[in-house]
Amino acid sequence: MNDVKTQGLSFRQSVNHMVDRALTALGIEPGLARAMKTCNSVLQVSFPVRIRGKIEVFKGWRAVHSIHRLPAKGGIRYDLKVCQDEVEALASLMTYKCAIVDVPFGGSKGGLHIDPRQYDRDELELITRRFARELARRGFLSPATNVPAPDVGTGQREMAWILDTYKTLYPEDINYIACVTGKPVAHGGIRGRVEATGRGVQLGLREFFRHMEDVKAAGLEGGLADKRIVVQGLGNVGYHAAKFLQEQDGAKIVAIIERDGALIDDNGLAVEQVRQYMNETGGIKGFPGASYVEDGAAVLEKECDILLPAALEGVIHTGNAARIQAKIVAEAANGPVTFEADEILRSRGIVIIPDAYLNAGGVVVSYFEWIRNIHHMRFGRMERRFDEVRGQHIVSALEMMTGEKAPDWMHTELVRGADESDLVYSGLDDTMRLAFQDICAVRDMAEGRHDYRTAAYMVAVQKIARSYADLGVSV
Ligand code: NAD
Repeated sequence: MNDVKTQGLSFRQSVNHMVDRALTALGIEPGLARAMKTCNSVLQVSFPVRIRGKIEVFKGWRAVHSIHRLPAKGGIRYDLKVCQDEVEALASLMTYKCAIVDVPFGGSKGGLHIDPRQYDRDELELITRRFARELARRGFLSPATNVPAPDVGTGQREMAWILDTYKTLYPEDINYIACVTGKPVAHGGIRGRVEATGRGVQLGLREFFRHMEDVKAAGLEGGLADKRIVVQGLGNVGYHAAKFLQEQDGAKIVAIIERDGALIDDNGLAVEQVRQYMNETGGIKGFPGASYVEDGAAVLEKECDILLPAALEGVIHTGNAARIQAKIVAEAANGPVTFEADEILRSRGIVIIPDAYLNAGGVVVSYFEWIRNIHHMRFGRMERRFDEVRGQHIVSALEMMTGEKAPDWMHTELVRGADESDLVYSGLDDTMRLAFQDICAVRDMAEGRHDYRTAAYMVAVQKIARSYADLGVSV
């Protein structure tokens, strides 16, 4: 098997070792523990596509880690590092993630071994449609059992192609539109999904900073304002997280690490401008007004308050963990810290806010999108005007009782029904707050008092074990 090595352990082994800490702390019996960690099924496909007159063979995978809840849910990644070990690891993370944030899905993940930058739009459409057909025909794509979403190298566009392919194959499936999430709003997507994972990172960090004792244990004080953040990866997740943290919380983005190097400015980089520059030039090199460092990975070791890896797995490993100088490592990406590095960071008192909690915003809003799709109606459609009229009645009653005109701000706030974006934001905020509080509630049972990863996995494992017991699964 082609494994992603994160030092001695593969990515899948690294995740399993981390989960073992939670299984041991909870005293889960070995058979059940093994059952929980085992991937339920993995599909590997190879298919030919004619590109520029020549036949190319593409290899892809879809792993289903757990079906204790259905559908199984998880992104599709386009990257040259994709392999079976990686999709299995990512599928298992999805199982735990869904359990932590109370999303009733199993865990899945897919990937295609491809560098999407080497193909034009039409070629990618051909490849994606062919991959989607392979998945659908083998039962690895369906609104009831397996629902993909975007991940590294894919986005709304790919989800629209997958949706259209599924619809063509199964037009009689009344819920066909729910076969993928993260699709364009015009095709049944939900407002707020594109930025959901980055938004969730922001909301998760805000919740952490509401817990003063935890902030103090990380060697920090106060809120997010002026906290110095180093971001790795200015893609979907990193860009939105950094932008929101900068523009809405007053944090300072002191370094941005990308494929082609890193930008540093201790006074804070303008995230929106860097992203626009990247869109125009394909990289960050040459961005005016900031220092440029060619060895981007070295900038992970820059002194800062929060290190926010938002690119790929295994970037903090035994080779650099001892030199990380951040107070908090906020895992916006999946698996950015290896098992061994996790032990080193924690022994040095560095707080890790784990991926399975912090980047769950994407799957939370995907859940809302899936519900919207099987509901066949956008959220807020029935009640928005009703709420507005009721708000108007309240304002009129207040004005009548006081004999004074309500101030404009009060009028605006009260005479307004929530639209879909408001509801999505509110649902995501509530979910991220409650999940962190659940983690804090078991945190003291974990061996290291500020081991949030083990605590998060304990939350997940308890729920999954209960589900296995309720379903009467014999192991
Ligand atoms: P993306 O493809 O939009 O962005 C990844 C970014 O990382 C790109 O800008 C890329 O240039 C950069 N990058 C790649 N290699 C790099 C390197 N070696 N150093 C620095 N930068 C590098 O992907 P994304 O959707 O933002 O996903 C990023 C991470 O977040 C992944 O681990 C993914 O699994 C995880 N995640 C994504 C979502 C989602 O909704 N998209 C949800 C949960 C978790």
